[in-house]
Amino acid sequence: RLFNEVQESKGNIRVFCRCRPLNKDEASSGCKAIVDFDTAKDGEIGVLTGGAAKKTFKFDRVFTPKDDQTDVYADASPLVTSVLDGYNVCIFAYGQTGTGKTFTMEGTEKKRGVNYRTLEELFRIAEERKETVSYSISVSVLEVYNEQIRDLLDPNPSSKKLEIRQAGGEGFHHIPGVVETKVGSIKEVWDVLQVGSNARAVGSNNVNEHSSRSHCMLCIMVKAKNLMNGECTKSKLWLVDLAGSERLAKTDAQGERLKEAQNINRSLSALGDVISALANKSSHIPYRNSKLTHLLQDSLGGDAKALMFVQISPSDNDQGETLSSLNFASRVR
Ligand code: ADP
Ligand code: MG
Repeated sequence: RLFNEVQESKGNIRVFCRCRPLNKDEASSGCKAIVDFDTAKDGEIGVLTGGAAKKTFKFDRVFTPKDDQTDVYADASPLVTSVLDGYNVCIFAYGQTGTGKTFTMEGTEKKRGVNYRTLEELFRIAEERKETVSYSISVSVLEVYNEQIRDLLDPNPSSKKLEIRQAGGEGFHHIPGVVETKVGSIKEVWDVLQVGSNARAVGSNNVNEHSSRSHCMLCIMVKAKNLMNGECTKSKLWLVDLAGSERLAKTDAQGERLKEAQNINRSLSALGDVISALANKSSHIPYRNSKLTHLLQDSLGGDAKALMFVQISPSDNDQGETLSSLNFASRVR
């Protein structure tokens, strides 16, 4: 309902803000929480900026540190039905490293995130509809690092560069040669995701650092055949855990780190540019400025539906990054 209600006036992009709890290290080192949730129910979030001063931001939803994975998913779940109804959808998490992007999207085995819950519901609804619609679901897992696409499901990644193509000039964007694994149950998806995340670790000496500097992109392709009239539709759901949005410390600004940072900046600002061009109903949408936006093209714009989680830290020592993330997300609305 949330999506359909407001669709007309604002385009098809929703923004949910989620703030993680202050962690033990922050608490023990005397960090203070500077985020206030007094009007979170109205989608407002306040950031204390010194003394009594406060900057407030408004989003479609605000999740406080008390909201759990179930609360968060409940508001995202209408999108799942949209995918099965033939819409392209994109759900992504934006924010500084350490603010809970991976927690929101992947979650943990005990606290499953959006990815797992979404797929579980896809299969559940597909089963419910099986008398009238036959669904075929497949998954690809990609990583975009330094403007290069890596196929995490390919056991023998060739040295060949993966390039984005568009079918028939106006059809779906796809990458010739990318592995698409057909899945029939949530258990199978889980196994595929494990393969993907194991591959992510290969060749990086620090997995966490590497994952904070690359975009992890899960693509779920849904083919539906209406058994009543034979009509077929194809739709695509992207689930994206973006690279950390933090700015590089001046002292680190050299060599590989600088190149990484520039590529992250480039793709995240390209994402911001695309979304604000869509929001302003601009005649040119600059999808081609980064691999990230080029890949997401079918699921951003047109009648596609997008949801962005802007993830923030409550801590005073992250104030600069928090304000910068909230500003980025406000630009999108
Ligand atoms: P990111 O992917 O943005 O770098 P993570 O998802 O790895 O951040 O989160 C950093 C840490 O904070 C992890 O230990 C994670 O479990 C924890 N965390 C993040 N969000 C929450 C939350 N809403 N509730 C509890 N713990 C959280
Ligand atoms: Mg992460």
